[in-house]
Amino acid sequence: MTKEKIQYQSTNRLIGQQFVQKISFADALLNGLAEDEGLYMPTHIPLISLSKLETFTKKTSYAAIASYVLGLFLENELPPEKLDQLTRNAYSAALGWQEDVSLPLEQYAHLHYLARMDQGPTASFKDFAARFMAQAMQYFRADNQQLTILVATSGDTGSAVGEAFKGLEGIQVFILYPESEVSPIQKKQLDTIGENVQALCFQGKFDDCQQFVKEAFTDPALKHLNLTSANSINIGRVLPQIVYYLHMYLQVASKIGEEVLFCVPSGNLGNSLGAEIARRMGLPIRKIIIGTNQNKAFPDFLKTGIYQKISPSHPCISNAMNVGNPSNLARYFDLYGGTVDKNGTVHRLPDIKMMQQNLAGYAFSDAQTTQKMKDFYQQYQTIIEPHGAVGVLAAEQYLAEHPEDAAYPMVILETAHPAKFAETVESTLNIQAPHCQALEQSQHRPESSVRLEGDYQAFKDFLLKTTK
Ligand SMILES: *Cc1c(COP(=O)(O)O)cnc(C)c1O
Repeated sequence: MTKEKIQYQSTNRLIGQQFVQKISFADALLNGLAEDEGLYMPTHIPLISLSKLETFTKKTSYAAIASYVLGLFLENELPPEKLDQLTRNAYSAALGWQEDVSLPLEQYAHLHYLARMDQGPTASFKDFAARFMAQAMQYFRADNQQLTILVATSGDTGSAVGEAFKGLEGIQVFILYPESEVSPIQKKQLDTIGENVQALCFQGKFDDCQQFVKEAFTDPALKHLNLTSANSINIGRVLPQIVYYLHMYLQVASKIGEEVLFCVPSGNLGNSLGAEIARRMGLPIRKIIIGTNQNKAFPDFLKTGIYQKISPSHPCISNAMNVGNPSNLARYFDLYGGTVDKNGTVHRLPDIKMMQQNLAGYAFSDAQTTQKMKDFYQQYQTIIEPHGAVGVLAAEQYLAEHPEDAAYPMVILETAHPAKFAETVESTLNIQAPHCQALEQSQHRPESSVRLEGDYQAFKDFLLKTTK
């Protein structure tokens, strides 16, 4: 039997009949969003056997794991040695990691680990995926083709993507962010990237920025710009996030085959989707625990089976998770046999029982978040920022409800460096926020951002004016 080649198709393919084609990874990467405004998903998920996992060790380099995993999804689209080169470029010191990529796991209690995902150039987990995606776009771009990348951000995506693309030839990047929802440090990071990366500061909410990006993609007047997206709606952002779950698994499992719990503070659900795909590939993941702030449409859905987006989104202190209608919900629905469109309208319900079996979701208030930061600091002398605190809260609630699972290793993703949320950390803990070299460097660069009214026309006019 010949193995069916992996292709990419829209999560909306079962709604209408117009756009049912299957395309390559390269095309999905460059299109960003499917023509029917669905998100691309692989036609099937490749498997990794336990015996293959056993060939990796704690010492296997991150780039080597990345090359193997991504190779399964990119199949014959590029030569293996080229893929090796792209993953080495993405995950080596020369391109922005302080050393070769590292993902320190801090064990703070028996079987409890905090994954510090802040070692990249912008000190959030988003550096992992953004750097591979930038390398892949550079590689798959047709000769001399000018690309325009649009990215909406509520903080961390924009800087990670901007830094990943900075200096890449033939690619222009526009970062849209809501002025009132990013921290002063994040704003500085975004406004100072420079070169081919332009920050656009909007009077509006993150959801508006995300909507402008989606609108631009379907606007015929912008077709000549070869627009592509670098948000977590891009499949090129999702696949690299599978890799660190394998990497973390190898670090904490006492033997290959042991089940591990992962707890992921979530907004657009892109990070946790990496865990979900890793689980489907065969990584022994006992449960994926999703923590959110008051933007809790997904935890509520897991509980009730009824999806109701939150609009407008709530401005919480864990601001990278202020997402009222998570874009990767469409991918979760797809994996579980359902369909939901970009507006949050459910066309077909997924298998909710199966979802509840594999996933757990909990939501927390800002008051609970800061209290957990304090308690955690007192108990473990360990500083966590608001997103990580939501993760710790979710992990604790899960274990309170499932005491039998206390026997499994639990990895909580601390998705950003505490220095990124210095004001909250300092006012909550009454200490000085820890030092972060990568962030400090960006605070001394010249600014070049543009302020825009919160409407689509202003954005479109600016794009047309500056890309001529
Ligand atoms: C982006 C981000 C999140 C949310 O990740 P999603 O993939 O959108 O769920 C959580 N924490 C931090 C620090 C982030 O930057």
